[in-house]
Parts: sequence; C-alpha cells; structure tokens
Amino acid sequence: MNALTFHGRHQVVYQAIPDPQIKAPTDVIVKVKLCAICGSDLHVYHEHEKGIDHETVMGHEFMGEVVEVGKSIRHLKAGDVVMSPFSTSCGQCFYCMKGLTSRCVFSQLFGWVEKGKGLHGAQAEYVRVPIAESTLIRIPKGISDEQALMLGDIIPTGYFCAQQAEIKPDQVYAVVGCGPVGLMTIIGAIEQGATTLYAIDTVEERLAMAAKFGAIPIDASKTNPVSVLREVTENRGADAVMEAVGNKAAGKLAYELVRPGGIISMVGVCTDEQMAFSPTEAYNKNLTFKVGRCPARHLMDQLIPIVRSGRYDFTSIITHRLALKDGAKGYEMFANKKDNCLKVVMGLGG
Ligand code: NAD
Ligand code: ZN
Repeated sequence: MNALTFHGRHQVVYQAIPDPQIKAPTDVIVKVKLCAICGSDLHVYHEHEKGIDHETVMGHEFMGEVVEVGKSIRHLKAGDVVMSPFSTSCGQCFYCMKGLTSRCVFSQLFGWVEKGKGLHGAQAEYVRVPIAESTLIRIPKGISDEQALMLGDIIPTGYFCAQQAEIKPDQVYAVVGCGPVGLMTIIGAIEQGATTLYAIDTVEERLAMAAKFGAIPIDASKTNPVSVLREVTENRGADAVMEAVGNKAAGKLAYELVRPGGIISMVGVCTDEQMAFSPTEAYNKNLTFKVGRCPARHLMDQLIPIVRSGRYDFTSIITHRLALKDGAKGYEMFANKKDNCLKVVMGLGG
C-alpha cells in the first residue's frame, strides 16, 4: 500500500510499504477513506516531539471501511463503515470505566512508533486497529464522512477543553489559539452555555472563523488581549482560559489572562521542558490547572447527537481536500498556513 511516512524534520514522504496485517485476534484492518492532518502531527513534523522512528506512518485522524477482522471480533464485519478516536482503548479498565479512555492501560496512539514499538498511523491506504471492538464506532446515519473524521479527534478535544473550563453562563471566557482545535473549543464552550467568549490568535482568517462560531475575536498582533479581558471584568481577568496552541508563549498568555481562583484548561501539547508559569505564580493566583489528552472515545458517543443536530457547521473549517499522494504538500501548507490553510483532509481520490 501507499502511506505518508516520517523521515525526519519537515520530511513526510508518500511511499509504498507493506500492507498492515492482523497481529492479534482483537485487531481489525480498516481501508482508510478519509484522513486529516492535525496540529499534533505538526509537533512530529517539526521534530518538537522526538523519538518517533523514521518510516512511521503518520496520522491519527481517519474514518473508513472494515476490510478484515481478527478471530475474536464479533460485532464488526467487513463492509462496516467506521470512525475511530485517535488512540485505542479497551473499554473495561479502571480509566475506561471512569471515562478517561485516553489513559486506558492498553491505549496506543495512532502514528507513534518508537524503537520498533507502537502503532502506525492512518495517513495510509490501510490501518491496523487494535482492540477494535472497543475502539471503533460504526458511523451512524446522519453523520457525513467528514463529520465522522472530525469526531475522532478535534470535535471531542474542543468539547473536552471546554468541559475542563467548567463553563457557566454569565462568566467571561477566553480561548487561546484559533486553529482547528481552538475553533472546536469555541463550539464546545458555546454548546456548554458560554455567553461571553473571547478568541485570541494572530491569523486573520482564523479569527474570522472564530467570530463566525460566536466568539469575540482579538488579534494579539494588534491588541493586547490581557487589557481587553481586564476591561470587561473589572480588572479581574477571565474566569477560565482554554489553551489550544501548545507552546510556552500561549501558556504564559493563558496565565496572564486568567483571574485569581480561575481555571486554565490546556489541550495544547506543549513540548517544552518547563511549564509556562512557576509554582509560585500558580499559588499566587489560586489557580486550577487542567491538562491532558482528550478521552475522545468516551466523548464521541455523547457528541454524535450534537453533530447530527446540524447546529454547528463543523466541516466549514476544512479548507483543503487533497489526494493522499499530495500529503507532503498538505503538511507544508498547514504548517506554514499557506493559502489560508486551516484544515487538510485527504482521500485516495483527492
Ligand atoms: P494549529 O497549529 O493549526 O493551531 C494553533 C493556533 O494557535 C494557530 O492558529 C496559531 O496561529 C495560534 N497561536 C500560536 N501561538 C499563539 C499565541 N502565543 N497566542 C495565540 N495564538 C497562538 O493546531 P491545532 O490543530 O488547532 O492543534 C492545537 C493544539 O492542540 C496542538 O498543540 C495539538 O497538539 C493539540 N491537540 C491536543 C489534543 C489533546 O488530546 N489534548 C488533541 C488534538 C490536538
Ligand atoms: Zn489530532
């Protein structure tokens, strides 16, 4: 088959590799129909996250059709059209039972192979899905392929970021970063009842999209967001800040924006060795700080009705639909925000 594989910093290559094989009786092979590039793939692309083997198949956002099932699979069969969270989960361990499927004791992240161990990604013609019956969901009626693709990661991640912010009406919120995850966080916060929500970035088109989804945009290259938030809160700051960037500057900004006793909810993957604020600074604000990988599998069931309701135009963030063979160009465009690139979706046919 053909796949997009990692070959070092800024080198994603479309190449022929062996087809994935069933390795365990609980595995399934999925023929990928659509896959997408995520901000998390960019951490690998820029080699901000290190350790991943060369020739690892990239990507963790996908949907497709089951083509082969392992011996103990009972509820999935060839021909089923499925969506998948970006990491696998067993559905039965302590963490899965608590709804923290992202910390399942058997969890593996698609697109992460280190020293020969791990799971290849889904920017490929086929992908092996371990513990498939608890990981995959058959796509219900009323959900389009592109919505299903987004349900595997960015829709739940945005919703999770807002959940951690404990949204209540009549409070003042800020979202830092208006990439795909930040935009989904805006939708998540509004769905959970946010009435006053500021969205911060420096990219005009992304801020315009944030406004379209109901946030008040602040272009941090022109206006100081901390002053804006202070002005509308009698100098206190935001009740909660949702960070969807993944770098130290954004973490620092989140800290400056939040009021004493407030919450920072961080879904951005910050690869720096140090936190953006010190223990003393956290103490001095009586801060609640929540961070981590979204339990996408757990949230997907709950988000299906919201997506199906048609209340939000989730897929309007997709700016580029490419053939998988043009994936390297997709990475380059997304990483550099070329041609107003906001979300790249790839299919075999383009
Ligand atoms: P992206 O790179 O497209 O978006 C990041 C946005 O932040 C960009 O629009 C950029 O202009 C903006 N930005 C950069 N620095 C900023 C700053 N200092 N202040 C304000 N805005 C700033 O990526 P994305 O796909 O939206 O993903 C965002 C983050 O979410 C990434 O770190 C990704 O790894 C992470 N992520 C986490 C999870 C999880 O489970 N926690 C899941 C998916 C993605
Ligand atoms: Zn992702």
